[in-house]
Amino acid sequence: MSGSEGHDATVRGWAVDPAAGREGAAEIEVRGGVLERLTWLSGAAADGLAADGLLILPGLVDFHAHFREPGNEDAETVASGQAAAAHGGFTTVALMPNTTPTLDEPSALGRVRAAAAASGSPVKVLAHGAVTAGRKGETLSAMGELADAGVVGFSDDGASVRSATILRNALAYAGALGLPIVDHPEDLALTEGAEASEGYVATVLGLKGWPVAGEAGSVARSIAVLADVVRDVPGARLHLTHLSTAASLDHVRAAKAAGLPVTCDVTPHHLALTDEWIAGARRWAWEALDADGRARDPWADGALVAGPYDTSLRVNPPLRSAEDAAACRAALRDGTVDAIATDHAPHTEVDKHVEFGWAVNGISGIETALSVVLAAVGAGELPLVVAVALLTTGPARLLGARSGVAPGLRAGEPANLVVVDAGAAWTVDAASLASKGKNTPLLGRALPGTVRLVLADGRVAYAGG
Ligand SMILES: [Zn+2]
Repeated sequence: MSGSEGHDATVRGWAVDPAAGREGAAEIEVRGGVLERLTWLSGAAADGLAADGLLILPGLVDFHAHFREPGNEDAETVASGQAAAAHGGFTTVALMPNTTPTLDEPSALGRVRAAAAASGSPVKVLAHGAVTAGRKGETLSAMGELADAGVVGFSDDGASVRSATILRNALAYAGALGLPIVDHPEDLALTEGAEASEGYVATVLGLKGWPVAGEAGSVARSIAVLADVVRDVPGARLHLTHLSTAASLDHVRAAKAAGLPVTCDVTPHHLALTDEWIAGARRWAWEALDADGRARDPWADGALVAGPYDTSLRVNPPLRSAEDAAACRAALRDGTVDAIATDHAPHTEVDKHVEFGWAVNGISGIETALSVVLAAVGAGELPLVVAVALLTTGPARLLGARSGVAPGLRAGEPANLVVVDAGAAWTVDAASLASKGKNTPLLGRALPGTVRLVLADGRVAYAGG
């Protein structure tokens, strides 16, 4: 690699370009921020270049993240979130609207835009608007005005669109505007007061259970409403975010097979971590399965290496069983899932330094997402090209052509790319994270994949490591 600013750089490595349907040894040349040349190498020129060395990827796209501005800048600002995104390899981020005030009309969105522009970061910041005013679930937000202002979807994330009647109207209205409803599936009647996924671990730890049906029932409801709406509004689209259970994914698989316009995403933590971490286990989800594909008992096999009730593990939806995490990975492989989205949820120390059940939900995850996915790739759980597609072209398709986000290694365009050393591990510690939110259960852990260079819109978004 050469070029101190990164505006000019020549890099040889293993390029993965899902847009071109190609991966292999390659050399790229960036001049004045433009990707001048991508040369696929073979023979002697390709010697020593492999997928476990330097990877050259299109800039990653996050369909679901929380920066806390406006309203909770102690937890994250747009600028600190952009820095965290860049450190994680992301050049485009779509923010959720549950800020204070809620992004439910164009002026609130304008504040986020202004902060993104003022930061000087080239990381592109997009936003979802709220489905309902104040996310109260009572009346629709200013959806038409928000669409004109450039939102990429509508969500009441943090909760589902509670009323099926409102969901029905929202799907129809958003569909007419060419935008999806992005629903966080949760049936509050089943999840009120829940602390951890319902099951063996929650029972042993004395935590109130969050049943699988609390998610899957809501998924089924929303799909049923969608099926009704699309008959009248063919443009209606439903996206289900952060799915975590086999049952939910089965509903989506069946709906897609029936031709319904439904999409979904899974987070890195739900594909790689499990509820046994709350008891003190620290093995990957794929290491927590026995030969029959069943979750092993961490108390019986000596897997507990840390103290229990680490509040950085409290998240909504909760970390699930090893079987559910395996179902997430299977759904990533078979095309049921359209994107890996981080649900990056930074929080202050104050909001997490409490009893497990009192801690706010969320994991600060945008900086570890790529490494966690590479760990799954390294374990043979996910083909590299599929993993990269789920972090680039997959989410870009969800954002739609209007967003102008088109990840790919195309010569002649401003460079949007990540160079990551897949063979170099890094240790996650508070100081290594650009996010203000240090609430990650991966603190202290060595992860594969050190990001070396991130170019966004031809400019250096991150260089180091
Ligand atoms: Zn959510």
